[in-house]
Amino acid sequence: MNPKDEKVVMEKKSSLTSETPACLICGSESKIPFLTVPNRFSLSEQFTVVKCADCGLVYLSPRPSEDEIAVYYKDENYQPHQEQAKTLTERLYRFIRIFNNRYKRRLIEKLVPRGKILDYGCGTGEFLVEMRNSKWETYGFEPSEKAAEIAKSYDLNLLTQFADLDQKVDVITLWHVLEHIHSTEDLLEKITIKLAQNGFLILALPNRESYDARSYGRNWVAYDAPRHLYHFTPSDMENLLKQYNLKILSVHRLMFDAWYNCLLSAQLEYQQAGKRHMVTGILKAGVVAAISSIVSMLNARKSSSIIYIAVFINQ
Ligand SMILES: [Zn+2]
Repeated sequence: MNPKDEKVVMEKKSSLTSETPACLICGSESKIPFLTVPNRFSLSEQFTVVKCADCGLVYLSPRPSEDEIAVYYKDENYQPHQEQAKTLTERLYRFIRIFNNRYKRRLIEKLVPRGKILDYGCGTGEFLVEMRNSKWETYGFEPSEKAAEIAKSYDLNLLTQFADLDQKVDVITLWHVLEHIHSTEDLLEKITIKLAQNGFLILALPNRESYDARSYGRNWVAYDAPRHLYHFTPSDMENLLKQYNLKILSVHRLMFDAWYNCLLSAQLEYQQAGKRHMVTGILKAGVVAAISSIVSMLNARKSSSIIYIAVFINQ
């Protein structure tokens, strides 16, 4: 970011007000401090992550309001929306994305061989292209104009709002999206309106109960304050989704996320400490990622990121 843009961003941030939400799952106002997490693109900014005293959900509070959060996505070259991969981690991210799209399609086709799919928060659209190539009827929604423009260049069917979808679909996917959403209840409500009976909601989310999350603590990159608002565990997701008649059928690991998360966490730890040599940090990242991967092979509920498959049963 050039210095002029940086100044504009800082001025906007200094005028922000914040909100302190109640617990998304149980509605409790009672919370205890859990971690103080840096904004990884502006380390002097620190945010408080709290734990619900009643149900244990971990979330960001206070947090920038829905209208104000946009400034934090302009802080940096936010990776999901980048056109050109410049650094090693960005190239790694691209490689992982191609591999993962194929893996996600295969998981879905075990449930529904062909049908209609909506990818909510489709980013630049590569996952939908993978599905379309496999003869799926595809729909996408993406709030970032920059990303949506790239998705449109693939000739994808992009909705300007969720309500524009005029039919029910067999599968709705939210890949690393739900943790960014302010109005989660509203979104889940809309999903259940657009999902066919016995249709599937499939989500990918970071997992604060993974080995790498525990190893890096406040420097774990997927705390990503203030962009990540919630830090769900598998039991949180069961408790949340059942309120919308969505039953989790299975959980799966996302194979490379531990490696990617550890590399970026090592970078953040290095920047925060300012002392440890980066080589030591990379070695540690390798060891932590390897252990995390082995643990997740034995138990997917301990993966760095988890894919949740839930079925919608309207009672
Ligand atoms: Zn709660």
